[in-house]
Amino acid sequence: MIYLNGQFMPIEEARIPVLDRGFIFGDGVYEVIPVYSRHAFRLAEHLRRLQHSLDGIRLKNPHSTTEWAALINRIIENNEGEDQYIYLHITRGVAKRDHAFPKDVQPTVFLMSNPLIHPAADLRETGVAAVTATDNRWLRCDIKAISLLPNVLLRQMAVDANAAETLMLREGFLTEGAASNIFVVYNDILLAPPKSHLMLPGITYDVVLELAEANSMQHEVREISEYEVRSAQELWMTSSTKEVLPITSLDGKPVGTGKPGHVYHRMYALYQEYKAEIMRA
Ligand code: PMP
Repeated sequence: MIYLNGQFMPIEEARIPVLDRGFIFGDGVYEVIPVYSRHAFRLAEHLRRLQHSLDGIRLKNPHSTTEWAALINRIIENNEGEDQYIYLHITRGVAKRDHAFPKDVQPTVFLMSNPLIHPAADLRETGVAAVTATDNRWLRCDIKAISLLPNVLLRQMAVDANAAETLMLREGFLTEGAASNIFVVYNDILLAPPKSHLMLPGITYDVVLELAEANSMQHEVREISEYEVRSAQELWMTSSTKEVLPITSLDGKPVGTGKPGHVYHRMYALYQEYKAEIMRA
């Protein structure tokens, strides 16, 4: 069952008018929220980021936090599977095609749940490959906008190179992956790029930094140069659906020893403990 504009229905029955501004302009925002053991993970943080995205595109939030939580919980109940991910999507609604905001139009609200497929366990031993590219996106990458054409093209570059992700560099510095945030271990210190308009403030990114802090792992949030990326001991990608994955090859060259490093293994274990802990709470 999915949710569309006030109604729950099978996805096959869901219809969107062709003049929806999501379809015509990519005028909307979204969220992806992982669900573990039928509990939405870090829901408050996801809803806070949603508000930030809505503010960024000047669209009024159609629901209160309590309403969102109720809708999300109903979607979870209506779908099978202990682990799911919720896809939440809001557009500026249906209106005659004109770039400027339409007046008195209801936003389109769509929610669906899909099974959360955990990355294969052997990837934690082998790692994944990544390539690099120039970050050619706009200057508001902190908005989780549904217009993802650059990200689609960038991710396809990775797929075409038999890799899992494309790391983006802007003016010589690391921003993020096509659909993930990137961490670097350099000189035994865990590095993360600072939040700015140039990257999405990842919920998983926050969890990783909180765990590093709570467990006294040496870490710094600062600009990371292309040189540091290319000479890193470890590279990781993080996202709600992939959690934390090691990148062991970059542009065809091994990262560090070419195997996931000890800092990665420690963080992976901490992440799993943290998940188990909050699901018990
Ligand atoms: N950056 C981009 C561009 C993304 O699309 C995503 C999520 N798919 C992330 C970072 C990671 O964010 P989160 O940890 O909240 O999933």
